[in-house]
Amino acid sequence: MSSYGHLPPYQASTADPRQTQPGAQQPRPPVTPGPTGYQQGGSPYAQNTPNVQQNQYAQTPKNGYGYGGTPVEDQGYFPPQGQALIDDPGSMEGLVSQMGGTGLGGDTAVASRPGKKKNRHAYHNIDQPTVAAQAFNQSTGNAAQYVNQDPSQQMSASHPYAGQPITPAMSQFPAQANPPFSPGLQSLGQSPGFGTSVQTIPTPSGPVSAQGQVDPEQIPSIPRVRNAATQYYLEHVYSTMEHHIPPPGAVPFVAIDQGNSSPKFARLTLNNIPSTSDSLSSTGLPLGLVLQPLAPLSAGEHPIPVLDFGEVGPPRCRRCRAYINPFMTFRSGGNKLVCNMCTFPNDVSPEYFAPTDPTGIRVDRAQRPELTTGTVEYLVPKEYWAKEPVGLRWLFVIDVSQDAVSKGFLAAFCDGILAALYGEDEEKLDGAEINGEVPGESRNIPVGSKVGIVTFDKAMHFYNCSDKLEQAQMLVMSDIEDPFVPLGSDGLFVDPYKSKSVITSLLAQLPKLFSHVKNPEPALLPTLESAVSALSATGGKIVCSLASLPTWGPGRLFLRDKNDLHGIETEKKLFQTDNPGFKKLAGKMVESGVGIDFFIAAPAGRYMDVATIGHLSAVSGGETYFYPNYVAPRDSLQVSLEIKHTVTRETGYQALMKVRCSNGLQVSSYHGNFLQHTFGADLEFGVIDADKAIGVMFSYDGKLDAKLDAHFQCALLYTTASGERRVRCTNTVAGVSEHAAEIMKFIDQEAVVNVIAKEAATRMTERPLKDIRNVLTEKSIDILAGYRKIKSDSHPPGQLVLPENLKEFSMYILGLTKTRAFKAGHEPSDRRTHTMRQLKSMSPVELELFLYPRILPLHSLPAESGFPDANTGQLVVPPTIRASFSRIEDGGAYLVDDGQICLLWLHVHVSPNLLEDLFGAGKSSLQSLDPMLNSLPILETHLNAQVRNLLAYWGSNRGSKAIRIQLARQGLDGSEYEFARMLVEDRNNEAQSYVDWLVNLHRHIQMELSGQRRREDGGGGGMSTMGMENAMAGITSLWTGKEG
Ligand SMILES: [Zn+2]
Repeated sequence: MSSYGHLPPYQASTADPRQTQPGAQQPRPPVTPGPTGYQQGGSPYAQNTPNVQQNQYAQTPKNGYGYGGTPVEDQGYFPPQGQALIDDPGSMEGLVSQMGGTGLGGDTAVASRPGKKKNRHAYHNIDQPTVAAQAFNQSTGNAAQYVNQDPSQQMSASHPYAGQPITPAMSQFPAQANPPFSPGLQSLGQSPGFGTSVQTIPTPSGPVSAQGQVDPEQIPSIPRVRNAATQYYLEHVYSTMEHHIPPPGAVPFVAIDQGNSSPKFARLTLNNIPSTSDSLSSTGLPLGLVLQPLAPLSAGEHPIPVLDFGEVGPPRCRRCRAYINPFMTFRSGGNKLVCNMCTFPNDVSPEYFAPTDPTGIRVDRAQRPELTTGTVEYLVPKEYWAKEPVGLRWLFVIDVSQDAVSKGFLAAFCDGILAALYGEDEEKLDGAEINGEVPGESRNIPVGSKVGIVTFDKAMHFYNCSDKLEQAQMLVMSDIEDPFVPLGSDGLFVDPYKSKSVITSLLAQLPKLFSHVKNPEPALLPTLESAVSALSATGGKIVCSLASLPTWGPGRLFLRDKNDLHGIETEKKLFQTDNPGFKKLAGKMVESGVGIDFFIAAPAGRYMDVATIGHLSAVSGGETYFYPNYVAPRDSLQVSLEIKHTVTRETGYQALMKVRCSNGLQVSSYHGNFLQHTFGADLEFGVIDADKAIGVMFSYDGKLDAKLDAHFQCALLYTTASGERRVRCTNTVAGVSEHAAEIMKFIDQEAVVNVIAKEAATRMTERPLKDIRNVLTEKSIDILAGYRKIKSDSHPPGQLVLPENLKEFSMYILGLTKTRAFKAGHEPSDRRTHTMRQLKSMSPVELELFLYPRILPLHSLPAESGFPDANTGQLVVPPTIRASFSRIEDGGAYLVDDGQICLLWLHVHVSPNLLEDLFGAGKSSLQSLDPMLNSLPILETHLNAQVRNLLAYWGSNRGSKAIRIQLARQGLDGSEYEFARMLVEDRNNEAQSYVDWLVNLHRHIQMELSGQRRREDGGGGGMSTMGMENAMAGITSLWTGKEG
C-alpha cells in the first residue's frame, strides 16, 4: 500500500478544537453572551452596525490569488508555444462555437503560453515562483523535497479542525455578563458606512444596447465571495448572536450556538424584518425561513443537547404552545414565564420554578440548555407518541427484473447495501483503500434499528434473515392482485450485525440467482404496498431500486412523455402524477410513518415516469436518486456511496413539523417534500433526514413593534433511528425595523435564493415554465429596483447599483433559470421533474453549488494546496474560478462540481506529465484514459494526493450526493456537454450570459425607476411574453406571500 493510502481524510477528526481551552468539560459554551437576561427592549439590529463580513470578503484583492491568468508560466503543465490551438476542430466544432460565443468582451482565454522546457515536475519550478509558492518555500524549504514527503506525517501531527487556532473568538467566553441581544461586531472590525457597501457597475446612461459596455471583470463574482469566506471561516467561528449574516452555503464553518440557532438549521431571508407588510413589499423581498432541522454538525461543534423533563414534558406556552426557549423571559421573581411568540404570561409550574436574580435572570440559567441554546431536543412523554417508538426499520426493496440484472444495477445495489451496513471506510470517497487497521465491530446504524430484504420482478420475494438460520429463506408471493406479507416481522426484520453472515451471503448471491430468471417487467406498486404493510405497525424507511419502467400488475405505468406535450401549456401534466394507486399509497405511507428513497437507473436514458414513482418519495419526505444514463462500470461506485450515505445520515421517521412566529406574522406557505393535509395543518413526514430542507414563507397579520424582536420556532416531532421520540426545537430571532434601508443591511442572499427556488419549483405543476421564468425575472427586477427606490442616493441613474448583500443574487437567479427544471428548450420530463423535487428539498449547501458550480484549475494548483498548513494544521484550500469558458485556459485541467456530479475536464493539449501525475505511469494521453474512470488511483505524486485530498474536502461539504469524478476529455467524452452546461456565466441552457442578463435587468430597473416598466415584458432569455399580463398579475400576487 502506498503511503498515501494511510492519509486520513482531513475531515475525519471529531476532536473538539476547544478541548484545550478552559471549561471544555461543559457540554456547550459555559456562558453564552447571547440572550442572557434577554430583554425585549429596542430592536438591536436596527441600532447596530451592519454586518461587515461580506465587506471584508470584498476587500480581498480581486486578483489576490494569482488567478488573473498570470502564474501559469510557473506551473509548467502548459503545452509549448504553438501547440495550444485546437488542431482537431472537427470533433469539437459545435461545442467550441457554443462556448466560444460567450461574448464576454475581450478574449481573456489565453491562446498560448510562452515556450518553456517541460520536465516532469515543472510545476514545482522554483525559478520564478508564484507569490504563494514563495511563501510555501520560505516555510518549508525546497518545494521539490515536498513532493516526496509523506503528507500523512503532517496530517497525523495536526488534523485540521483539531487543535487548530480556529477559534480566536472563543476567548470571548465567558463574555460580559449581560450584553444586549446583538453585542455588535467589534471582533469583525469597524463597519464601513452603508453607502460604501454597494457595488456599482458602470454602464452608460440611457438605453443599454450592447453587452460590451459592461466590464465582465467588474461584475460580482460568486467564486470571489466564496473564496474569501472560505478563508475567513477557516480562522473564525460563527457566533450566532454576534453574526447576523451566515456565510455562503458552500462555505464550511463552525458555529457557536449562543441562543439563536445556527444557520445550519435555520436561515432567515431577512435578519432585520420590516415592521409592516407595505414596507416589506417596497423591498420586493420575500420574508422566509429555510429550515434544515436535522442538518449535520461540523467537527468542533457541540452536539445538540437532549433534555428530559419526564412525564410532564418540556415547558410550553399555554396559549400558543411554543416550547420553552432562550427568548422567553421570567417575571415576578421567576413565577411568570412570558412567551416570546405571543407575549402570554404563563405561570411557572412548581417543578420548573427557580428564582430570578435582581436583573431578572434565573439563577439556574447556566445549567439549563433550553435557556441558553437555540437548538435543543426534548425527549417527550407518551402523549406525543403515535405508536410505540422503536429503532428504525430499514426495508431494502430490490428490483431483480431482467434490466436490473443485465445492466449491472442489481449488483451495484447489493454492493451498496453491504457497504452501507458493514463498510467502515471513510476513504472510499476518493477511491483510496481502507486503513490498514483491523475492522472492528462498529455499527453503521444504531442499536435497535433493524433491516429487512425484499426482491421483486413479476412476483415479490421476502427473505427470512434470522441469525438462527444457516442461510436466508426465500418466500415467494406471486399473488400481486391481493398480496400479503408471508413472513412474521421477526423473520423479516433482523439486527444486521447479528445476521451479518446470512445477509452478506444473500446479497452476494442475488445477482447470480436472478441472472437465470429474466422477468422483464417489474411489478412495483403491489410490492411497495406489501412493504408498507410490513412496516405499518412500526413505521420505517424503504430503500427501493428500480431499473426499468414498472409495466406489470396493478399500478403499471406506461410511456407518458412522448415529446408532444413539451413546450406547451399542458407540459406540466408530465411533472405530476394522476395515478390513483401511487397517490393513495403515498398518503398511506405518511400515515404509517413510512418514507421511501428510490434509486432509479435509466439505462440509455429511457423514460421512467419519475413524476409518478418519485411522487412517493416527495410526499413521504424521502429522496429520489436518479441515474439517467446509468452505465455500471462508471456509475456503480456512485450508487454504492449514495446508498451508504442514505443509510448512515441522520434519519428520523414518523415526523410532524410546526413553525411558530411572533404575533403580527403568520405562516403563508410551506415548500418542500412532505404532506400537508389542509392549510394550517402540521407538516407530515414519513421520514426526514439530515439533508432535507423546507422553505417557509411568512406574511403579516398585523404590524410588528419595532421596539421588539421577531421570533421563529420550528418544532419537529420525530422518532430517532435509535427509537426515541423527541422534539427538535430550532429558535431564530431577528430584529424589526421601520426603515426599509435598515432591512437591506441584513439580507441573507442564500436564503432569499433558496426560498425563491423552492417556491418556483412548487409552481411547476401549476404554471407553464415560461411564466415561471418570467416571474423569476420580474422578481429580480422588483428587488433590485426596490433597492434603488429605497436608497435614492448619489448614484447616477445610469449605474446598476446592487446592494452589498445581494451582489451575487442576480447570478444565482440566472443559474436557477438554467437548471433542468426551468430552462427553455427540450428537456425530458423525467429530468425536469427530478430537478423540481430536488430544488424543493435542497439545503443551502446543495442548492448553492447546484446553481453555481465550483471550478478548480488543477494545472496551476499552488504546491501547498490540498495539504494541511504547516502552522495551523488546516487544509490549504485553493481558490475556485468563475464558471465561464473565458476563464478556461488552453492545456488546462479542471475539476467542476455542482454538488451532483464532479467532472474532470481535460483540455485536448493538457500536459502528458500532468496526466501521469494524476493517473499513473503510461497514462500520458487523453486516449489512454479509461472513459469509465470514476476515481483517482492512489499514487505517490504530489498532484495526485492534492487532488484526492481536495475531493475529500469537497465531499464533506456537498449535500446528499456522493462525490466521484467523471471524465470530460475535450473532444472525446459526451460529458463535455455537461461541462459546457455548467459554465453558467456563459450563454447556454437556452438563456443569456451573465453579462447580458445584468444588462437586461439593468434596463428594466431603469424603466421601473422612470415609470415605464411593463410588467408583462419579462425579457428573461428573450422569451416572448405576449398576452401574459393577466397571468402575471395572478402569480405575482401569489409570489409576494400575501395570500392566505
Ligand atoms: Zn405563546
